[in-house]
Amino acid sequence: MSYVSNFKPLSSKALSIEPSATLKVSAKTKELKSRGVDVINMTAGESDLLPPRWLLENLKLYSSKPGVNLYKPTAGIPELREEIARKYQKYNGINYTKDEVIITIGGKHAIYLALAALCNDGDEVIVISPYWVSYVEQVKIVGAKPVILETDSRNGFIPDINKLRELVNAKTKAIIVNSPNNPTGAVYPAQVLKGIFEIAYTNGVYVISDEIYENFVYEGDFISFASIDEKAKNMTIVINGFSKSHSVTGWRIGYACANKEIINLMDSIQSHISSGTSSLVQYAFLGFLDHYEEDVKSLSVFKERRDYIANELKGICSYIPSGAFYYFIDVSKFYNGDIKNSVDFCEKLLDKKLLSLVPGVAFGDDRYVRLSFACSMETIKEGIKRLKEFFEGL
Ligand code: PLP
Repeated sequence: MSYVSNFKPLSSKALSIEPSATLKVSAKTKELKSRGVDVINMTAGESDLLPPRWLLENLKLYSSKPGVNLYKPTAGIPELREEIARKYQKYNGINYTKDEVIITIGGKHAIYLALAALCNDGDEVIVISPYWVSYVEQVKIVGAKPVILETDSRNGFIPDINKLRELVNAKTKAIIVNSPNNPTGAVYPAQVLKGIFEIAYTNGVYVISDEIYENFVYEGDFISFASIDEKAKNMTIVINGFSKSHSVTGWRIGYACANKEIINLMDSIQSHISSGTSSLVQYAFLGFLDHYEEDVKSLSVFKERRDYIANELKGICSYIPSGAFYYFIDVSKFYNGDIKNSVDFCEKLLDKKLLSLVPGVAFGDDRYVRLSFACSMETIKEGIKRLKEFFEGL
């Protein structure tokens, strides 16, 4: 079947991994765009805003400083680890020290390192569906088994604590929590986080809390999982990063906070896999706390976009996201002979209206499609117009 057919088979673990569906769709859309086709791209998982000016200036400044070009400690430069710890003290009420922080190649790699530090072959990791595409595949890569807890828009995509309790057993090693959530935009209320904490704590299960959309909350308050109880800090690996908040998805910088033992293990793995992320990018972020409030404020345009879409899609989409920058829209009532699933829906939409969305099947729920509002208001207006026309024609 391949040019190496007379050799031994490739890794069955690797062959069981699905390539990132969201990146695939957005690559196809970018390719159409590069050919001059008038496609409206609402697939993006990245902000359209420019990185803050102070950050670009820092990048330039540090690029010529002696020594910045060289290898740095694999867990990250101490000054930035320290500053991230101070951010948690000041804004999240959690007392991390710099040794409880690791800087990684984006939030994605932080999640992988956390899973690799926690899991043995055969362990189970509970993933709440709809889920961000990489959780399930990363759990498989580390030899564990993803166990899915389903939610849907009728209960605001909030997990049912009793159902969670039923899924936990002796093999459960961790629960992945993602609030604000990609793809649904759900922000879990305090009592739900506490419910998850109680179950995890009583069963000796870790929580990987992916908080990368911390700064994108429109309703309710953001609560870091590690802050909900004195004991939560010790059993939680908080994942965060600058990709979304500072519009630097391509720079590849994220971080994790956890107890020292877990951070040391993650560092040990990172030291062999990549030696950590770019030294220059880390230096550029020094001083980020001085600009934090102003940078977060600049994200308020996302609320305006969310509200505009809520108004335009009245009657089409009753679930309004409280956070992140996505609408997860139930389109299953339009499934018929021609459109049987979310992939068909997105393909037809792209064909007929040149509007690109991500099929919900990529996030574990084929009834939905994901629409990103991380794009200009002009793009949103045109995209929503095309989507409404498409719905009318169905
Ligand atoms: N976690 C969630 C929920 C995400 O949506 C993303 C990116 O789309 C990430 C983590 C990874 O972010 P990064 O680009 O920092 O690796």
